[in-house]
Amino acid sequence: IVHWTPFFQTYKKQRYPWVQLAGHQGNFRAGPTPGTILKKLCPQEEACFRLLMNDILRPYVPEFKGVLDVNDTEEGNVESNEAGETLQKDSNSDTKRTIVSSYLQLQDLLGDFEHPCVMDCKVGVRTYLESELAKAKERPKLRKDMYEKMVQVDPSAPSAEERRVQGVTKPRYMVWRETISSTATLGFRVEGIKLAHGGSSKDFKTTRTREQVTEALRRFVEDYPHAVPKYIQRLKAIRATLKASPFFASHEVVGSSLLFVHDAKNAGIWMIDFAKTLPLPQHLPRICHDAEWKVGNHEDGYLIGVNNLIDIFQDIWNS
Ligand code: ATP
Ligand code: MG
Ligand code: MG
Repeated sequence: IVHWTPFFQTYKKQRYPWVQLAGHQGNFRAGPTPGTILKKLCPQEEACFRLLMNDILRPYVPEFKGVLDVNDTEEGNVESNEAGETLQKDSNSDTKRTIVSSYLQLQDLLGDFEHPCVMDCKVGVRTYLESELAKAKERPKLRKDMYEKMVQVDPSAPSAEERRVQGVTKPRYMVWRETISSTATLGFRVEGIKLAHGGSSKDFKTTRTREQVTEALRRFVEDYPHAVPKYIQRLKAIRATLKASPFFASHEVVGSSLLFVHDAKNAGIWMIDFAKTLPLPQHLPRICHDAEWKVGNHEDGYLIGVNNLIDIFQDIWNS
């Protein structure tokens, strides 16, 4: 689902509607200075940005400009109630409450573009943490709701036994869910695409085969042939930098995205969303990011996704 967030952003005296391709709408708002946006603070993500500002990956992530506390009334578009947020009674009224929320102040990556086309690709062969899978395995109850979601997408997905009991366990559902998109096979999936003038707000949840993904990417760069070699070059630079980055070597990068942005003149790609990027456990000093994931080895398949993105853009360029 593509969200067009209600706020406008100003950058270099331009005013433009800000585009958000994933996540809860209430997690983002306009920044206090032009060219910045605010994302609801998650301590894990803050820790990553602090490390990234001193890592060789810095040119490939939005600039982090610190934490900002913002007062908001409940009528505002603040939805969730995450950690780090305090609720206070407003002295003027019994019902109206002021919410103080902490936000990460980040560079707005759309700021340098004019009528940008934007694509969010979630990278990696799984989008849940090992700990989330382990938790789901603790008391695996049969879930009828998950069984029904499964059947809706693919009636042949449940096993004979699952059909008999009309239910699946949560860990089984989590693993299966990554196979309906290209996540499990290509190591990335398209989360959302927004073209310059409205268009193509499609749902990509079941865009799975290499052919389907190639078609989605092809439509994204249609009419902007200059963007393709720029994207290939940028992806190769990101890959080379990842391989040398101390941050990347020591973290499991899950649920993170590459944000592709182009307009008539320029094209860029940045790594975003580090809410599920965690330091590796002590007994595992590093992972290689391109090995097969087996439960417990913490491999995220991030480089599998980057390699496939490069291959697919190269196919598009050559055809
Ligand atoms: P989810 O976990 O569901 O993916 P989230 O709440 O963690 O969502 P992000 O994935 O960080 O949020 O961002 C959601 C969307 O907001 C991105 O797809 C992108 O369109 C936009 N966005 C995020 N950060 C930036 C940025 N620095 N500059 C411009 N756009 C951004
Ligand atoms: Mg995201
Ligand atoms: Mg996220």
